[in-house]
Parts: sequence; C-alpha cells; structure tokens
Amino acid sequence: MSELLTLTPEGLYCPQIGAHIDPVRPVERAIITHGHADHARSGHGSVLATPETLEIMAIRYGRDFCGTRQAAAYGERLRIGEVEVSLHPAGHVLGSAQILLEGAGERAVVSGDYKRQSDPTCAPFELVPCDTFVTEATFGLPVFRHPPAAKEVAKLLDSLRLVPDRTHLVGAYALGKAQRVIAELRAAGYDRPIYLHGALVNLSEYYLSRSVPLGPLEPVGRRGKELAGEIVLCPPGQLADRWSRRFGDPVTAVASGWMRVRARARQRGAELPLVISDHCDWDDLRRTIRETGAREVWVTHGAEEALVHWCEQAGIGARPLHMIGYDDGEEAVDTASSPEESGSSGVETS
Ligand SMILES: [Zn+2]
Ligand SMILES: [Zn+2]
Repeated sequence: MSELLTLTPEGLYCPQIGAHIDPVRPVERAIITHGHADHARSGHGSVLATPETLEIMAIRYGRDFCGTRQAAAYGERLRIGEVEVSLHPAGHVLGSAQILLEGAGERAVVSGDYKRQSDPTCAPFELVPCDTFVTEATFGLPVFRHPPAAKEVAKLLDSLRLVPDRTHLVGAYALGKAQRVIAELRAAGYDRPIYLHGALVNLSEYYLSRSVPLGPLEPVGRRGKELAGEIVLCPPGQLADRWSRRFGDPVTAVASGWMRVRARARQRGAELPLVISDHCDWDDLRRTIRETGAREVWVTHGAEEALVHWCEQAGIGARPLHMIGYDDGEEAVDTASSPEESGSSGVETS
C-alpha cells in the first residue's frame, strides 16, 4: 500500500500535501499531468503544472480557469511540507508530465497518459524509478500494437499519390494528435500547406509558438472543393458531420490507436485507418512497468483487469482504480464502448 497516494471520489490524492492529481471534479489544490480534457478540468482553487499545460488550459478554458496557478519546469523540485514534488516528461503531448512524489520513505509516480514512441512534438518520456507507479491502460490488451507513426503516415501519402483528385480528410484530436500527424508528414517530406478545421487552429498555433516545426498551416475557412488533392485535418467527430460534405467525396482517415480495431474504424467512418496513438501499446505498458521497478502498480482508464492480471503473474502488486471520468483523450464517443465490446472478430491479427 502507498503512504503517499490514496483514492478519493475526486481522484488520486496525496494527503501530505493536500493535493489531488488530475481530479475529475473541482478541488482546492490540483496537480495536472497534461491538457487533455479528461485530466485537465477548470474550476480548481490552485493548479500546479508545466508552463505548457497551464497555457493549454488557458487556451481551452479562458484565462480564469483556476484561482491561482504555479508553473514547474521538468525536473524542478518543489518541497511541500515533508514531500518533494517534481514533474518529468511523459512523451504524450506538449507539456505532458509524470508527477513524482517523494516522502515517507517512498517514491510514487503518477504517469498520467504516456507513450514511449518517438514524437517530434514533445519531450521524450523519462523513465522515473519508483515504488508505486500509477499507469494508464488505455490500450492495455495484447491486440494493441502500435506500428511506427512514419509507416502510417506513409499510407496517407501513398493514397494521396494514388487518388490525387480527392481531398484527404484526417480526423485527429485537437491537442497532440493533430500536431503529431502534421510533424510526421513534414518528416516524410510533405511540404504543401496543411489545412485545419477551425477547432484545431488555436492549439496548433500554440505549438508553433513553442517552436514545434509544423510548416505552413492554413485554416480551411470557407474553402471546400478547391482543396481537392490537399490534406485537411479535423476533429474525428467532424468526419461524419455536415461540415465534411463541402469537400465533395473526400478520402476519410482517422489517426488513433483504436484504428487497430476494424469495427472502430468502420464506426468512425475511416476509409483509411491510421494506427497512430499517443498512448503506450501493450508491449510498452509492460516494459515500462518493469523498468520503473515498481512493487505496486495502480491501473487507470482502460483495460485495467488485463494489465492487473499481467502484473500479478509477474509478481508485482496491482490494483484497478475503476475511476470514472477518464477516457482515451477528448471525445465522449470513445467512452461508449470498450475494446472488448468492439468485438474480437474486428481485431486485425496481422
Ligand atoms: Zn491524454
Ligand atoms: Zn487520459
């Protein structure tokens, strides 16, 4: 059992410092791992986070998203009573951090969401050895294997070469995924302007302001058919929306770890599923747990039981947290069904 962490209805709580981590309801003191809506909510008394996460929250919720705010750079050590708190890169999205708590003879890490794959848009995951490790398990089933993002982006560019007269409309979350897809396209040598749905503009501009190399970006604005042969990014929910009809007969793609499951790709209307995820796959979850050396693992949002079972088999204490309010990113639609419910017949095995 952990001395430093307990679970309350609001979420993970460190009693020694009186702070919740990624609480799902407004609290007095919050430490926020990253800017995704299921982790970063508005209305807290005070928020401690990286400067980027604070900025992203201000972009999304307005300047007064909390009472007071405190920025901590990666690696900076803050002493709060008997506990030292520090933030370390999680490799998930710009500004994402794992929270390390040290005190009472224990090291506890709350990882938030994280990934081990390379991502040109954020600092790489830092391995933080600890006794207690709180991990996500969004893709905590053996079927989830994420190929290199470059390989998936190559599929998009191949399609563009094969059908150069159709707009390629790519559904991607506004924070992190959209910018990563753009950066991977640039890494593959694609240098034309990339067009953005209005919902992706502000955060992409923020990434640009933080020197993330995204190349030329243009809002879609009122354009439609004149974007034949171009790449347009939008939130995944817009693919099936009236908005997308302006492009005539676009090739529709979705960039998500869920695209590994055919039923999900169909449900999302993705002709071209791109398996690009900002979360660990099954192999990277297990590798990370082992590498932290944790004796106790707490598992949140996702296939908790499968990862808990694996930990127990490996001789590591583990418990599922069954927390309500977390999902794989931004959109409620993704909480509607778990990967199991999507049907094993829809899972690609190759
Ligand atoms: Zn996230
Ligand atoms: Zn999450």
